[in-house]
Amino acid sequence: MGREGAGFKIAMTALDSGRIGIASQALGITRACLDESVKYAKDRKQFGKPISSFEAIQWMMADMATGIEAANWLALSAAWRKDQGLPFTKEASMAKLFASELANKSAYLALQIHGGYGYLKYFKIERLFRDARATTIYEGTSEVQRLVIARELLKEL
Ligand SMILES: Cc1cc2nc3c(=O)[nH]c(=O)nc-3n(C[C@H](O)[C@H](O)[C@H](O)COP(=O)(O)OP(=O)(O)OC[C@H]3O[C@@H](n4cnc5c(N)ncnc54)[C@H](O)[C@@H]3O)c2cc1C
Repeated sequence: MGREGAGFKIAMTALDSGRIGIASQALGITRACLDESVKYAKDRKQFGKPISSFEAIQWMMADMATGIEAANWLALSAAWRKDQGLPFTKEASMAKLFASELANKSAYLALQIHGGYGYLKYFKIERLFRDARATTIYEGTSEVQRLVIARELLKEL
């Protein structure tokens, strides 16, 4: 339970751990967006070619893949610090902020790659688009993550 008067601090520590969890969830959503996009882009043909051969589509997939690498390392770094018993408030917020914003951007791009079909419930991307949206809100909004990161920076520097 902790000592009397320490409840807020304990609750905030629980949020730090939860933020690594949401970063991982957002990362999973982004990976699914990329997988679905690659599969669809190789299959869908326009102007006599798979849409995966168009540079504009390739760039969207490249952005998602690059973001996945970065988000993965941010989440792993925060989790490693927690495991080592090191402070990880800032790192957890950075991982959550980056991964959840990436999931939203990737869901937008993945739906774009799917064209009109992406809007239909029959395609997985419609659910991913809705799932991604919640990740920048719960366990602290993106604005709140930025406040936390800035507060930690100001303490450090
Ligand atoms: C799907 C879902 C599941 C949820 N599950 C849970 C749960 O299990 N447990 C739980 O406790 N809560 C849960 N929540 C609630 C969630 O944590 C809150 O919705 C979230 O923290 C934002 O709080 P709020 O909705 O009161 O928005 P508000 O705090 O009213 O924020 C509204 C807007 O103002 C901005 N804002 C607020 N304060 C500041 C500030 N100081 N500076 C700049 N901008 C600011 C916010 O970023 C946001 O854009 C869930 C929410 C969703 C959508």
